[in-house]
Amino acid sequence: MTHHHVPSSLLFDYATGALSEGPALAVSTHLSYCGDCLAALGRLEEIGGVVLQSLAPAAVDSELLSRTLARLDEQGANERKPEPEDAANGTLPPVLRAHLGIGLKDARWRFAAPHVREARLTLGGPSHRASLLRVPAGRNVPRHTHRGVEYTVVLSGGFIDRGQAYRKGDFCAADPSVEHRPVAMDDAECLCLIVLDAPVLPMGRIGRLIAPFLR
Ligand SMILES: [Zn+2]
Repeated sequence: MTHHHVPSSLLFDYATGALSEGPALAVSTHLSYCGDCLAALGRLEEIGGVVLQSLAPAAVDSELLSRTLARLDEQGANERKPEPEDAANGTLPPVLRAHLGIGLKDARWRFAAPHVREARLTLGGPSHRASLLRVPAGRNVPRHTHRGVEYTVVLSGGFIDRGQAYRKGDFCAADPSVEHRPVAMDDAECLCLIVLDAPVLPMGRIGRLIAPFLR
C-alpha cells in the first residue's frame, strides 16, 4: 500500500494531458501501484467528460468529444486496477518496460555516485531525463539540491528522506527548495525511477567529485 501520492494538481495535469512525457511517466508508474490515485484519476476523467458534454456543441471539437467519451467507455478508469510488479524479482511495471528496452537484469548500469548505479531510460524528447537508480541497503545518495523538479517512484525496497519513509510505489517530488540526502533502508537494495527536468546540484566534497557524472 502506498503512502505518498501524486499531488492533486499534478494528477489534474496528467488527466488533461498537460504533462510532458517525463513527469507523465512518473505519474503512470505510481498509478501502477496505487488504487487511490487511480480512483481519483477516474473521477477527474468523469468530470472532464461531463464538462465536455455540457458545453455548447459548437464550442467543442466533435472529434475531441467523441474521442473523450470513447475513452471513458473503454477504460472506465474507476474499474482499472493497479498492476503492481515486484521489481525485486526483476520485473518492471509495464509502463516502464518499453523505456528500458531490455530486461532489468540485462540493463547497462553505470556509475552515478559511490555505490549508486544508474540505467538510463529512453524518452521521446530531450526535455526530461529518466533513469532507474539502484542504491544498496543502508547506502545514501550524496547530498544534493535541484535546479528543477525531481520525481521519484520507488520500485522496490525503500528509502528515508527528511524523516519520511518511502516504500514500493510511493511518489516523491523535490524542487529547488529541497536539499536532501535520501538513504536506502537497511533491509534491501532500493530501486527507483527518477525523472529530472534539469540536472541535480550536488553539494559537499563528494558532490563536487561526482558532479561530472550527473550531467
Ligand atoms: Zn497514490
